[in-house]
Amino acid sequence: MNNNQHITPDILIVGAGISGIALARLLAEKDYSVLVIDKRPHIGGNCYDYKDENGIIIHKYGPHIFRTDNKEVWQFLSRFTEWQEYKHKVRAIIDSKEVPIPFNFTSIDILFDAQKAKIFEEKLISKYGENKKIPILKLKQSTDKDLQELAAFVYEKVFYHYTLKQWGLKPEELDGDALARVPVYTSYYDGYFTEKYQAIPKNGYTKMFENILKHPNIKVQLNTDFKDLKNIKYKNLFYSGPIDEYFDHKLGPLPYRSLNFEFKTLPQKQFQDVAVVNYTGQEPYTRITEFKHFLNEETSSTTIAYEYPSAFELGKNERYYPIPKQENEQLYKRYLELAGKEKNIYFIGRLGEYKYYSMHSAVAAIFELVKKFAT
Ligand SMILES: Cc1cc2nc3c(=O)[nH]c(=O)nc-3n(C[C@H](O)[C@H](O)[C@H](O)COP(=O)(O)OP(=O)(O)OC[C@H]3O[C@@H](n4cnc5c(N)ncnc54)[C@H](O)[C@@H]3O)c2cc1C
Repeated sequence: MNNNQHITPDILIVGAGISGIALARLLAEKDYSVLVIDKRPHIGGNCYDYKDENGIIIHKYGPHIFRTDNKEVWQFLSRFTEWQEYKHKVRAIIDSKEVPIPFNFTSIDILFDAQKAKIFEEKLISKYGENKKIPILKLKQSTDKDLQELAAFVYEKVFYHYTLKQWGLKPEELDGDALARVPVYTSYYDGYFTEKYQAIPKNGYTKMFENILKHPNIKVQLNTDFKDLKNIKYKNLFYSGPIDEYFDHKLGPLPYRSLNFEFKTLPQKQFQDVAVVNYTGQEPYTRITEFKHFLNEETSSTTIAYEYPSAFELGKNERYYPIPKQENEQLYKRYLELAGKEKNIYFIGRLGEYKYYSMHSAVAAIFELVKKFAT
């Protein structure tokens, strides 16, 4: 990577996360000269991973599982990495029992007696059909007494306390999209995701990103905050930092939820059966991740992380999730109006667009942008 500060690139990209990195490559391949800067000491943004002292690849900013139905995105990334196929399974501890999440027929069988479980499962199938994903709020609207009982159980035991911890808000205070992510499956399917391609880069995300950035038209400069760059010249700026920060928060800060990870190394081969176990009750943490499961790493010890949600405080911790509330979306739109008055600047990625992007949707959005920008 090049540390030359004095070049005048066609394109300046602020942020070496997956959005900035994918964009850099696509534009470099169209013969633009590209400078990517990031204020952090590493590339990869929130998808950054590294090998710890136990030889286990750790996702520093929380567990990241790649999945997509988008063949174009899959083929693009596959140029830069081999993949380890990985079907994500999540468990939750409910009434002291470990059950699959999303809540499915196995979860019902474990938590209810056989007769009750049969009633729930038959009614779910007759009302919604087999192999369907039913959002919890839809299930709650059911007028059937048994389905109402099941909905109330799932709402309380899987959803309510978890949401309070995750967002610091009651479920009804959040916008619908966030709630739609909590489904009940009308089957025994126990995968967390349903996309066609589900995998982890064999040598980690960071290695894949290094390969994407390996191009003669791309220079990368780390430990460089955009606001400290004086007199830099470029033709177009793509900004994947926080849009409110770009405008010095002049309309007020966009709210985020933050996370704190407590990493622990344990002198045992395995801590839990799956990579992620959710804690949906009163515990202060929401999940425990055991990283070695992602790539099936054989080590004598293991590394786990407890995940504690918290409020985002400027300068004190990191922005993780935009908070899905209408008033925040309104504020973002006002920032977008300001952005519309700037010339040759594009706001991209989860911070630039104030949007929860999964990795594949972040890359897909970059594809669309490049189609418009460089026809
Ligand atoms: C806990 C958690 C788990 C997730 N798990 C998954 C998952 O399993 N699967 C999945 O598909 N997605 C997952 N995601 C989403 C994934 O993290 C995002 O899709 C991805 O990070 C978006 O990349 P980005 O480039 O838009 O933003 P980022 O990764 O945030 O990159 C932005 C970069 O800009 C830099 N920057 C900001 N301001 C400045 C500045 N002023 N100057 C210079 N640099 C600056 C930052 O340092 C950062 O590196 C998860 C997200 C979270 C929070």
